[in-house]
Amino acid sequence: KYMTVANLANAMGKSVDHVFEVMMYVDNTVDYDKSTSVIDSLQVIQEIVKKSGMRARTVSPPDLSDPERINKDATKWPPPDPSVLVKRPPVVTVMGHVDHGKTTLLDSLRNTSVVKSEFGGITQHIGAFSVKLQSGETVTFLDTPGHAAFTAMRARGAKVTDLVVLVVAADDGVMEQTVESIRMAKAEAVPIIIAINKIDKQEADIEHTKDMLLPHGIQVEDRGGDVQAIPISALNGTNLDTLTEAIVLQAELMNLKGDPRGRVEGVVVESRTDLHRGKLSTAIVQRGMLQKGTVLVAGLAWAKVRAMFNDRGQPIQQAPPSTPVEVLGWRELPSAGDEIIEVESEKRAHEVMKWRQSVKLTEKQEAEREAVECKIEEHLKVYKTQLETRRRLGRYKLRPTGPREKEIKDDIGPRVSVIVKGDVDGSVEAILDVLETYDGDSVCKLDVVHYGVGNVSETDVELATAFKAIIYCFNVNTPDKITELAKSNKISIRSHNIIYKMVDDLKKEINSQLPLMD
Ligand code: GDP
Repeated sequence: KYMTVANLANAMGKSVDHVFEVMMYVDNTVDYDKSTSVIDSLQVIQEIVKKSGMRARTVSPPDLSDPERINKDATKWPPPDPSVLVKRPPVVTVMGHVDHGKTTLLDSLRNTSVVKSEFGGITQHIGAFSVKLQSGETVTFLDTPGHAAFTAMRARGAKVTDLVVLVVAADDGVMEQTVESIRMAKAEAVPIIIAINKIDKQEADIEHTKDMLLPHGIQVEDRGGDVQAIPISALNGTNLDTLTEAIVLQAELMNLKGDPRGRVEGVVVESRTDLHRGKLSTAIVQRGMLQKGTVLVAGLAWAKVRAMFNDRGQPIQQAPPSTPVEVLGWRELPSAGDEIIEVESEKRAHEVMKWRQSVKLTEKQEAEREAVECKIEEHLKVYKTQLETRRRLGRYKLRPTGPREKEIKDDIGPRVSVIVKGDVDGSVEAILDVLETYDGDSVCKLDVVHYGVGNVSETDVELATAFKAIIYCFNVNTPDKITELAKSNKISIRSHNIIYKMVDDLKKEINSQLPLMD
């Protein structure tokens, strides 16, 4: 657990050989010969990291307040004048506990929309779809149910959901993910409409389900609150029109508007590669009018729109705000949640990509550098504890290395040599503390030849063989391979998990070494 050559190599993500190579330039006065050799100078460690080109202090992170940055990254147009805004459909995410019927509800909604649609056509799963109601209103649904969609979007800072339909099965009531969904929607200040599902089931208890929502801050209309709750059967299609009407009503209250002019802005909701059509992504337009030829950037991808399709796979010429649209023409695939911004030319798109890549690279280097520094600090902390313990251990004639013969010459008499292994620093220290109380001047000498944290290793057995030591281990395991090795070397490994029993064992061992008195 020292910062060994191997530790450092690991922390830097480099090979041991690499570290040795660099070390020759840094500090050739010390003889590091094994990957387990300890490098005990922070300065040397830092030099090695630096010489490996990893200490990137000189590379400062991009200055996000840099006014130049505005010109390098894609920019949105200033907020539009309210007078030019027009009504737009709401964008809805369906959330709820697993198995409460989110997928069934989305399927039923999509199917009814196809039947009612003037276009007809086959439903396509493109990540979002629109439902046209008899009243002429339109509602757009995100097609990926649950938290995944919501969090993917939020993770990238995109706010695409206007309202959440929270599906609660009437036979099951409020469950863990129901509560989680409520929390997420509230955190984003997105209004909720409750769909009490599976009312066709015998066990369905609509009233109880409403009551269960109360402690979670959801007060439905007939409980004195203002949250709409619609009893439905997603499976049978019961009351789906009431649900969509409730959505439209809520949307009207929210007075949702968009700007159909100006530079296009939107959010990627899904990306995929089609065998025949190539790279495709589904976008929800939030501003402007998307059309053929528009140049877009999203994350680290850009596109010149070659063609667009609606959720029924039919080609369309224009996509206004709140419309889900499949876009063809991406050079790379953007990720779900990426913000889409229109730029004026392909040349600008290239500039933006270059800028964003450099920002990303710097961030990555910065993160890597921090990770290395963190690890080094951790290792040094452990190492310092070890040094301290070793200092205290000085009182016991510690002989960590050196040939046994030499020691026997200058120190004849009965002795017990031990190696101590423990599960944590604390336990090793506690054992060393107990050993410290053993009288070093007694007839039999106690030698701690080695100690450490972790399982018994091959090195431990090697040391034990060289010193004819007994290995005492506390709360650690001994791999079968090591047990075998110890056996063939006639080394005794004593495992304990109670300190005083371990000490008793040790005392017995010492007594057995004492010359018989007559
Ligand atoms: P999800 O995990 O929330 O997407 O739930 P699913 O839509 O996969 O539905 C889970 C199970 O509940 C499936 O077996 C559905 O057939 C069933 N289910 C969904 N809605 C209803 C409903 O309204 N009534 C009944 N009886 N079963 C339903």
